[in-house]
Amino acid sequence: MNPLKFSPIFNIYAADLAIRNEAQMTTVEDQLMIRDMIELIRQGIRQKLMDTYWMKNSRDLLKNLDQLLMLFKIVGFSEHLFNTDNLTQSELNHFSSFDEDYFSIVERMIMSNLRLIFKLPRDAYLDSFMINAFNANTHIILFFLPLQNPYFNRHFPDSYNIGFTGSIIAHEFFHSFAPNMAHDRFYQYAQYNKSLSCYDSFYSENMCFNLTLGGNKTRMCVDGKNDMIDNIPDVEGTRVAFEILKQKLGDDAKLKLLPLPDHLPFTNEQLFFIARSQFWCDNDFFQDETMAQSLRNPGPHSPHIVRVNAVAMQMSEFGEAFSCSPTDPMVTTEEEKCYLLPSDE
Ligand SMILES: [Zn+2]
Repeated sequence: MNPLKFSPIFNIYAADLAIRNEAQMTTVEDQLMIRDMIELIRQGIRQKLMDTYWMKNSRDLLKNLDQLLMLFKIVGFSEHLFNTDNLTQSELNHFSSFDEDYFSIVERMIMSNLRLIFKLPRDAYLDSFMINAFNANTHIILFFLPLQNPYFNRHFPDSYNIGFTGSIIAHEFFHSFAPNMAHDRFYQYAQYNKSLSCYDSFYSENMCFNLTLGGNKTRMCVDGKNDMIDNIPDVEGTRVAFEILKQKLGDDAKLKLLPLPDHLPFTNEQLFFIARSQFWCDNDFFQDETMAQSLRNPGPHSPHIVRVNAVAMQMSEFGEAFSCSPTDPMVTTEEEKCYLLPSDE
């Protein structure tokens, strides 16, 4: 089964839900649920650091655990920010500093939910400070949009909420241990550098596209070295989120259950990956010029299709969820998989 093929259908379904819920903004209950998710993910990453074989007897382990604990959690923004008249000049400067390109992508994505766009006051929905998430070294900011329908709803199954919101939170946490935010100490370890070059070559060698640009055929690949800044949090974050889902379900057999049997033909594990990919669903990336533009972009983010497929290829759980056979394109061998914080050699 191709989850990308089913994703737009789910999008419409989720947009329907949003309309029925009057597209309500994040409630206290929502926020408490997200805060719980943040703490579970923090614990999941804590365990990963403690299990990393090359860090086990080093004081760096303690320093990294401290750093993990010191990341403040911020869910959404303080209430005063929701009225732009109240913003200070420095807040306005901060929010206007984001990459315009990103917002136009998000805008297109929202526009694809036509029924949703008619329901919502467009300007309010697209205010820049409602979108995105980032790790600002001492704190993680989760903006407003990813905490809304159709991306998050406390009534959605855990597999959906953890697949989408959980993966984003874990991605942001992982920035602290990946280039360029990991402490300089990390690079003293040969094992850490080995992990980085594994990621570099996996993306540079496998995430390549045959494009026709101005009538000429050309082959372009992801810049694995430059983009590992975000490629690593994508993979490692999704792995931790999947572990949290298993923990929440309490029994791995539940991964195979249908959480919404009357509405959706997807199991929990399938829904996790569909939710995780939902944000990146973008038909423009099947156009060669757009793809080339994204590959040439000096920023650390790989094209959307890469952010979906590379994670699927790095996680055997994906092939398992969609009953892939060993020769399917999203299936890789264990030797091709990369681990930033491996538990054994
Ligand atoms: Zn990132």
